Amino acid sequence: METLLLLTHTDPDGTLGKPQLEALHAARQLAVGLGNAAWHVGLVGETTEVAARQIGACGAARFLEVQGTEFAQARYATDAAAAEALCRAVSATMVLAAGTARWSRVLPGVAQRLGGRADTHVSGLSVAGEAIQVTRWYYRQRMEARLQRAHRPWLLLLDPGAHPAWSGDPMPAKTENVPVRVTDAHQRTCVTGMRAPAADAQTIRPDADLLFVAGAGWTKKQADGQTHVQEAERLIGGFLSRTRASLGSSKSLVDLGGEGQAVLSFLTHLNQIGQTGATPRHPKGLSACCHGEEPHTVGWRFIDERRAIDLDPNCGWARGKADVLYVADAFAVMARLNELLQEPTST
Ligand SMILES: Cc1cc2nc3c(=O)[nH]c(=O)nc-3n(C[C@H](O)[C@H](O)[C@H](O)COP(=O)(O)OP(=O)(O)OC[C@H]3O[C@@H](n4cnc5c(N)ncnc54)[C@H](O)[C@@H]3O)c2cc1C
Repeated sequence: METLLLLTHTDPDGTLGKPQLEALHAARQLAVGLGNAAWHVGLVGETTEVAARQIGACGAARFLEVQGTEFAQARYATDAAAAEALCRAVSATMVLAAGTARWSRVLPGVAQRLGGRADTHVSGLSVAGEAIQVTRWYYRQRMEARLQRAHRPWLLLLDPGAHPAWSGDPMPAKTENVPVRVTDAHQRTCVTGMRAPAADAQTIRPDADLLFVAGAGWTKKQADGQTHVQEAERLIGGFLSRTRASLGSSKSLVDLGGEGQAVLSFLTHLNQIGQTGATPRHPKGLSACCHGEEPHTVGWRFIDERRAIDLDPNCGWARGKADVLYVADAFAVMARLNELLQEPTST
């Protein structure tokens, strides 16, 4: 019989964020699939009271906590010690955790300490007969593998965005403190501050409903024989600030910067979508001035509804890559779209 443990860590405000709630949903589903196996939650943070109350109604058999100022910040030594202590406290055979930066850094090391095995980037969990089966993607999301392991404990890092988030009313939960001895050696690393781009400069928004992808066409000579890069920046920037869409790019466009050509200032290689770029998950995608070649569109695998704007009626999007292709000048379409988005909506 399996014993499941869901490891969670609090956000700076003491709550559990969306990836943790998604992992919670997955853990509940797995426990049901295993014939209502016992499952437990381990909470790590400076204080865990708010988080425990947030998920008090989730149905876990036990809520265990490792808390204290030493566990406020992400740090390998203290996070690994906390995770190890929680796993041992319930003799967990299956350990699930959200694939946040904090857990991703420590879980494989914790598996080593426990004599277990770890798998990362898990996008699905199911029970086949009596066996637990996980799915994950390989080769830039082109091949999906189903894995089983007999070895225990088995630690799994779940990809954020792959499961629905658990929701429920707050309810007090009885927590059990798990002591962890923290020495000076555990605390040699210290986070001295956080540096993040201003909200508007942050163009990659994994939670956005829409992915907007810009292609190299924005920097090419247009019908008047001139390039219009500044106008492209203005149109794309205006659209992003109005819609809060996430910004993606083709490889050709982000590569132009390295070739010394005029490019959109807010793009980096992190925005690149495709075979050698990212494969984000969004309900909708809109591509403009991008040809829609296979190495690019393979990155659209998890975009549910796809639309594209291109001057070329024979571009890749027209060959089964998009649900809708607008054969049109993207400068004109985006200018009109921005106008419509600016107009007050009628009540
Ligand atoms: C091994 C390998 C890996 C690769 N990995 C990736 C990857 O991860 N991601 C990726 O993107 N690419 C990747 N590529 C490159 C990919 O094959 C294409 O070269 C690239 O996607 C082309 O970018 P693009 O469509 O923006 O540019 P282009 O091919 O130059 O297309 C520009 C488009 O803009 C259109 N256009 C121009 N002006 C307008 C206008 N006013 N209105 C509307 N449309 C207009 C043109 O009609 C054209 O279709 C990879 C290639 C290889 C070989």
